[in-house]
Amino acid sequence: MATLQEVLQQTVREGELYDKLERGFVRCYACGHCCRIPDGQLGVCKVRYNEGGKLLVPWGYVASAQCDPIEKKPFYHAYPGALAYSFGMLGCDLHCGYCQNWVTSQALRDPSAVSPPVRVTPEELVREAVQQGAKVVVSTYNEPLITSEWAVAVFKEAREAGLATGYVSNGNGTPQVLEYLRPWVDLYKLDLKTFEDRHYRQLGGRMQPILETIRRLHEMGYWVEIVTLIVPGFNDSDDELKRMAAFIASVSPDIPWHVTAFHKDYKMTEPENTSSQTLVRAASIGKAAGLRFVYAGNMPGRTGELENTYCPNCHELLVERVGFHVVEYRLTSRGSCPGCGGAIPGRWAADFQGQIADFPYLPRFQKFDRLRAFRR
Ligand code: SF4
Repeated sequence: MATLQEVLQQTVREGELYDKLERGFVRCYACGHCCRIPDGQLGVCKVRYNEGGKLLVPWGYVASAQCDPIEKKPFYHAYPGALAYSFGMLGCDLHCGYCQNWVTSQALRDPSAVSPPVRVTPEELVREAVQQGAKVVVSTYNEPLITSEWAVAVFKEAREAGLATGYVSNGNGTPQVLEYLRPWVDLYKLDLKTFEDRHYRQLGGRMQPILETIRRLHEMGYWVEIVTLIVPGFNDSDDELKRMAAFIASVSPDIPWHVTAFHKDYKMTEPENTSSQTLVRAASIGKAAGLRFVYAGNMPGRTGELENTYCPNCHELLVERVGFHVVEYRLTSRGSCPGCGGAIPGRWAADFQGQIADFPYLPRFQKFDRLRAFRR
């Protein structure tokens, strides 16, 4: 019986984000590691590899697909109430001990992570997204940067069908991958996990590529929202939160910052779960730094008004939320405040058409063929 790696290597194609180097080496630019890979070897992500001087990359399958409310991604300033058809492959370039998607992201590193891949085409995925009533198609669950060629293939179909597109990413990007994605990706949610380089190194990355990616995404016109999972004892000091918030505000005070609650998951079971008081404190630090839209997540109904969107000029309530549920939507058809008329940054639909679902559910594609059985 084949291993997972062998099974995945049956569903690849030549990548587009790489250079050929001397002596059969290749340089991959899909993520901030920029691996220099000799013939016959894998990149750090374990899903892109050099075979005969060519970089081969994942293609033609998903390991997970789900219909999510867009609020779950989370995007709060992009089509509130929309259904986000979400898909993911396998693998990640980082290895965070608290990953909430570890079953897909760590499948190549951890034998206890099992999420069998399903063969599918971009056309099939998008057809199903349309049938479900989705307005947005999102690459998520694993790190989408490392599977960017596949995401672009799906997004080209999505655009043809009139859908918007998004990435839910750790933000470990490169100038090359951001240029490659720019024509096809509308919305980009990324994590700012810490403001300490040594902590990023514990997670398998470096801080500088993430900060540069945030600046570039904003300059290039992607719609950007940032999430910080607040982990007690890891990144919750006032000093670190102030430095994070000041950095985001220096890029743009209009970037929404979501401070969300950690709960014990995967290998990180030591810290206590984040309290609502800690989220409220983090949000206050964000606002004091000049950020105009700060939200608290993962604690529905327990952080006062921090799930809602207010006009930063006149404080009119614009979108009221409880968890993923949109209770009220009051933006005008032009995406402005009905009180003072001020434009609200984001990507807004001309009108709010309610929510198909305020909870995640599985679409039908799960009936498609699984790739053949594998051993760990
Ligand atoms: S995606 Fe990142 S980790 Fe994977 S091969 Fe490319 S540069 Fe290396």
